[in-house]
Amino acid sequence: MMREDGIGLYIHIPFCARVCHFCAFVTQGHREDRAAAFVSDLFEEIRLLGHTSAQARPVETIYFGGGTPTTLSAEQLLGILDGCRKTWKVVPDSEISLEANPATVDSDSLATLRLGGINRISFGAQSFDDAELRAAGSPHTVAQIRLAMEQARDAGFSNVNLDLIYGLPGQSVRRWSLNLEAAVNLAPDHLSFYGLSIEEGSKFWRDADRGRLVLDVEETFADMYEIGRAMLGSAGYRQYEVSNFARSGAACRHNVGYWTDQEWLGVGPGAHSYIGGVRSSNIESLEAYHRLVSQQTVPVADREPPIPNLRLREALAFGLRTVAGVRIGPLERRYMVALLEEFRAPIGRLVRAGLVIQEPDILRPTSVGLRFADEIAMAFL
Ligand code: SF4
Repeated sequence: MMREDGIGLYIHIPFCARVCHFCAFVTQGHREDRAAAFVSDLFEEIRLLGHTSAQARPVETIYFGGGTPTTLSAEQLLGILDGCRKTWKVVPDSEISLEANPATVDSDSLATLRLGGINRISFGAQSFDDAELRAAGSPHTVAQIRLAMEQARDAGFSNVNLDLIYGLPGQSVRRWSLNLEAAVNLAPDHLSFYGLSIEEGSKFWRDADRGRLVLDVEETFADMYEIGRAMLGSAGYRQYEVSNFARSGAACRHNVGYWTDQEWLGVGPGAHSYIGGVRSSNIESLEAYHRLVSQQTVPVADREPPIPNLRLREALAFGLRTVAGVRIGPLERRYMVALLEEFRAPIGRLVRAGLVIQEPDILRPTSVGLRFADEIAMAFL
């Protein structure tokens, strides 16, 4: 059955001012001419997607991610937003999020973006220690994070996120606590933190491969994670997902959609989509992306056929990353499966291991289970 419920839109901007040493995202060095050509390709893809069945579905959230979307000018970003509004039915109270690097915004650009309808901004702060930022190859300084935060508030942003990373090379547990304290002191509405992961192809990965980088042991990561949860909890942030904490009403609606089996459309090179029960991903290379959209071809590189049971497994795996867990009834109706019977064995194992709690109509992770969300996911995938 075709779904008619609301969807999210993800817009991938593949440029960064500089590539951080831990990152292996689909990014390109930013150049004015390259960016202008890319924006016109993006318009072309939006126009092509406007002819698909998803066009009839209301868009409830839009998320500009990357890369660093704010390597584009505020005018370019608002032009893309306008193209989305003209193509899809963007609901009036939609959440429109923008990832930003603190070094790539100023008072004027933030004011323009806020006036143009961006209502949530997420700064990739990473750390509040300049030495750590330098060692990670980050393009910004601590002073720039503080300034960007102040400018965002002055521009009228009432929903601001800071992203942090723990386990950076040489980072002590105490230094991590100081980073959290510095972040909380800026009073963001939302905080996310992630353990450093060494992505294949990143500079850190090459350094580790040559023995130049030695990472902390897993126990230190576990301690840092628990310290993060405790500090943010006592500062009034409610955890709602493994890595995400928010003040009341400030949970990221777009990301919640990924974990609660909502569908979304991805636009831009390397963007993923999940529409009509089908997962697909766009071609990553900027050149190939340009070639395909110029030929009026949707730039999809990979498309999976709908496999109902797989979708249900994913809904469980992602849903059990959230503190609220998954509601059994709605999933059973959507996928027409007796869920508890179908997954009796893995659910039983997870409950016995103390990772998942089964309540009437709800499966949710325990406090310990949140730390082992990847292991829970593997029980279903
Ligand atoms: S971490 Fe963010 S800013 Fe750094 S290279 Fe990756 S996408 Fe760009």
